[in-house]
Amino acid sequence: MRVAVIGGGVVGCMTSYYLHQKGYQVTLFEKEADVAEHASLANASTLHFSYIMSLGSPYLLKNMHKVLLRQSEAMQIKNYFDMSFWAWALRLLPYCRKSAYETAQNTLIELAQKSKTLFAGIRECENIDFDFKDNGKLALYDNQCTFEWVQKYVDRLKKFDVPADVLTQEQAFEKEPALNGSKKSFVGGVYYPDDAFGDCQKLCRGLTAKMKKSKTFTLKTNTPVKDIVTEGEEAKAVLTKEGLEEFDQIAVCTGAYMDDVLKSVGINECLYPIKGYVMTFDRDKSFTYPAHNITDDGTATVMLPLGKRFKVSSFVHFNGYDTTFKDDIIRKITRNLHNIFPDMPVKNVNLANDFRPYAPSGVPIVKQTKYKNVFVNLGHGRYGWTLSAVTGHNVANLMSDKAA
Ligand SMILES: Cc1cc2nc3c(=O)[nH]c(=O)nc-3n(C[C@H](O)[C@H](O)[C@H](O)COP(=O)(O)OP(=O)(O)OC[C@H]3O[C@@H](n4cnc5c(N)ncnc54)[C@H](O)[C@@H]3O)c2cc1C
Repeated sequence: MRVAVIGGGVVGCMTSYYLHQKGYQVTLFEKEADVAEHASLANASTLHFSYIMSLGSPYLLKNMHKVLLRQSEAMQIKNYFDMSFWAWALRLLPYCRKSAYETAQNTLIELAQKSKTLFAGIRECENIDFDFKDNGKLALYDNQCTFEWVQKYVDRLKKFDVPADVLTQEQAFEKEPALNGSKKSFVGGVYYPDDAFGDCQKLCRGLTAKMKKSKTFTLKTNTPVKDIVTEGEEAKAVLTKEGLEEFDQIAVCTGAYMDDVLKSVGINECLYPIKGYVMTFDRDKSFTYPAHNITDDGTATVMLPLGKRFKVSSFVHFNGYDTTFKDDIIRKITRNLHNIFPDMPVKNVNLANDFRPYAPSGVPIVKQTKYKNVFVNLGHGRYGWTLSAVTGHNVANLMSDKAA
């Protein structure tokens, strides 16, 4: 059985991995020179096995005016004239209703817990070093309303037997002593012991390098898929610069890049590219870094030590496919970081940005398309690194079931 996987981000790599495990002959097509060069590189590295909060929610509805009126620096509409944003926002709105929110939220928690188990399996079987650390996540809140909403989320987690501890600021700072110099004060925090972090790009490279050693996996980088050739209800081949290549099944894992090629075969999911930034720099031996993943909810800033580097991710911007950096972005992210860790040295900064491919429900789209042998695994939003294992696993199962 020959299968094409289009898109070599973490979702395409995981999809390839589980298909390969099932004995498929897998070809992974990636338009860039290596795997995981887009969102799968520019992410905050967190494995949100328990802190996986749906964007569409009654809470968002209540605070929508802050986003609409640009009152929050962390989450901002940058381009009011972007019609694709408003079309997507209208589709998000129904998920702010209590019942729809609860369904999506519960689904996300269940998926994340399954992903946790699958990640444990990958770590055990593949033995790939990707700077994985599973000492939990400490989220800090500076707003009483948000903190109360989050406590409701913690109660929900308990129904799924997922641990989370509500802490006072003192308890939070005791858990992570590096916070003691913080210039900012908080109304409280939540510690999520199930959460972990690791380098997404390293795992993608490690998995594909291992699969490449077998005869049943081919990685074609620098090879954008230009078209999917169909006949009746089936896809026959993919078109690349090398010409046509025939496959029995195709999995589309192109992240936020829903290009015209995919639309031409009727794959037209409503995804919005939510822009975020990530800053990475080398750690200085003289400084004591936090051991945990620290998240300042008020500024949407995630800070963590990743191998020999330190990583800071910030901002949720609605600005279409704009990839430009504003000159002051490093300054703003550094300011957010220094509010928490005032003396942390920030040198030799590497800055990246990319898009969270957001489905309106917040739940990834894993399904068969109108072509019976074409499947999608898309729309992982801000949790794609976390959910890549479970959706890769699920789409591989779906594809083999349908083939049978
Ligand atoms: C700032 C930021 C912080 C984030 N933080 C976290 C986090 O802490 N934890 C978490 O779980 N998630 C996080 N995410 C979300 C996560 O990174 C994404 O959901 C995930 O990487 C999406 O993976 P993907 O494979 O779908 O997309 P991508 O990584 O974008 O991969 C898609 C790939 O498809 C390729 N492609 C597209 N079209 C074609 C074509 N026609 N032919 C061949 N190749 C093609 C692209 O080149 C690309 O490599 C964050 C995202 C951002 C931007």
